[in-house]
Amino acid sequence: MSEIIKTEAVVLSKIKYGDTSYIISLYTKGLGKISAIVKGARSPKSKLGLVTDPVNHLQIVLYKKDTRELQIISSADLISNFTELKSDFEKLKYSQAIIELVKKLTVDHEVNSKLYDGIVRILELLNTSNEKPNILFGRFFLFFLGELGYEMSLDRCSSCGKPLDPKDGLSFNFSTGILCHVCRNDKAESYIFTSELFNYLYCLKSRKKIEAQEKLADNAITFLESYLKYHVPDFKGIQSLQIYK
Ligand SMILES: [Zn+2]
Repeated sequence: MSEIIKTEAVVLSKIKYGDTSYIISLYTKGLGKISAIVKGARSPKSKLGLVTDPVNHLQIVLYKKDTRELQIISSADLISNFTELKSDFEKLKYSQAIIELVKKLTVDHEVNSKLYDGIVRILELLNTSNEKPNILFGRFFLFFLGELGYEMSLDRCSSCGKPLDPKDGLSFNFSTGILCHVCRNDKAESYIFTSELFNYLYCLKSRKKIEAQEKLADNAITFLESYLKYHVPDFKGIQSLQIYK
């Protein structure tokens, strides 16, 4: 027996299948990450071909069967195709980095509506906001790490638990996190952690509007990438950002 499910989704990838169909990967609000087949979508008469392009935000109806690896899309309507984002090189690059992180690092069928809302929100912001794409991306990346279970505490020392003050000099150890000026003497520093970087991450987390230097925003992304690589050895870095450098 298959169930009919209506939910929202963001398209993560799309590949050709057979002569007329596509297989798409979706991050859905109601079912988490799933794969589905869009039958007949490559026929010129089908409107589903373009609607199911990567990054698009959709309202979908699907036939779901738990025993099946691929679910079947019955209909898909566009909520947004983020036109502005797709016509701007930098915005496109970071939107692809978001899609890549979600595709590579979330677990199939694990529902997380907070993460889902965060993904839609960041794509909307990239599409419409004037804020720099690398700053918006950094904010999403920090949020995403928390949703994966690798939340970075910016308030308290990861070793002794005392409140952190960047003026005292902080340090960073990948396995524990941020260290205060006392604990830094006992544990090896695995990343040169400047007070600029700390302050910038703090602003990202508190969602304050920031005018960061281009370089600092990029350094913060590299830092978060290294942190994720340490915790997820299979993760080799964000390819979308390497290709388009
Ligand atoms: Zn400490």
